[in-house]
Amino acid sequence: MPELPEVEYTARQLRVAVVGATLQEAQVFWERTIGHPTLPDFQAEIAGRRIEGVRRRGKFLLLDLSGDLFLSIHRRMTGNFLLLPSGWRIDTSLREQDLAAWNTKGPTFYSDVAAGSTGDSSNVELRYCRVSLHFTDGRCLLFTDPRKFGRIELWSKDREDEAFHGLGPEPLSDAFTLSGFMAALASKRSVIKQVLLDQTVVAGVGNIYADEALFYAQIHPQRPANGLTQDEVRLLHEGIVSVLTSSIEHGGTSFNDYRDLWGEAGDNFNHVHVYHQEGKPCSRCGTLIERMVIAQRSAHFCPGCQKGLLHAESLAMNAE
Ligand SMILES: [Zn+2]
Repeated sequence: MPELPEVEYTARQLRVAVVGATLQEAQVFWERTIGHPTLPDFQAEIAGRRIEGVRRRGKFLLLDLSGDLFLSIHRRMTGNFLLLPSGWRIDTSLREQDLAAWNTKGPTFYSDVAAGSTGDSSNVELRYCRVSLHFTDGRCLLFTDPRKFGRIELWSKDREDEAFHGLGPEPLSDAFTLSGFMAALASKRSVIKQVLLDQTVVAGVGNIYADEALFYAQIHPQRPANGLTQDEVRLLHEGIVSVLTSSIEHGGTSFNDYRDLWGEAGDNFNHVHVYHQEGKPCSRCGTLIERMVIAQRSAHFCPGCQKGLLHAESLAMNAE
């Protein structure tokens, strides 16, 4: 599932590639991908809008459009953006031939340009396209999404605060202060792994970076959030910023489906320490990495150097 670094990396690529381009039309192959407004209104509103900026909020990718509108995209499990150069045709004939297959696979793409001269597009994963945003210059921005949980919404800018109400501070901004983070954790009795996934505490952190940040700070994922020492919270705060920043530099983590704008996998999976590393030796102490389930999500940690429950904490838990 794309988390903050993957969304940020895509935003940076899009900023270079599409700011200034004008949308001609939106072709929608799976209606439910459009979460707001209705499909006819979405298609009518989007035509002729210029892309004025690209931003990120938590795991949401935002495209600012002329006329004080913005597109808000949440990729959920498997959503990806791919940018196609001009010269591609979209074949939707499967819709008439086999509706069930169409609903799974989406359209087929053909290049009018001779094979071998299409550059990067030969690497592009062109299945499972749900929406194609066509630019007036002939390029297409495709939203592919095998699992179909991703959503694209169109909103007026004056409703942005409402749309992101309750979302916590951006971890790579000045809004993510140590004192605020300490106060947030002090009010939570749940285990720290679960609290890090709470988007009201810090925006954009999911399973990969929660596991990596806890490893960085040498904190066991099952520790109660309000039982961490000040030093541990300080290290965890530092760890969140560090693992996110480093992943963006590596182009994000591609474990399953995440691809960048040109269809390339991110390289950060070669740099993770615990996420999906169970059975391998810890890079810090050599103990084998373990996996456990916490709140129905897998957690990966080193039992050697991520400290378990403190004696005082286990006494307090037993007393409850
Ligand atoms: Zn270790």
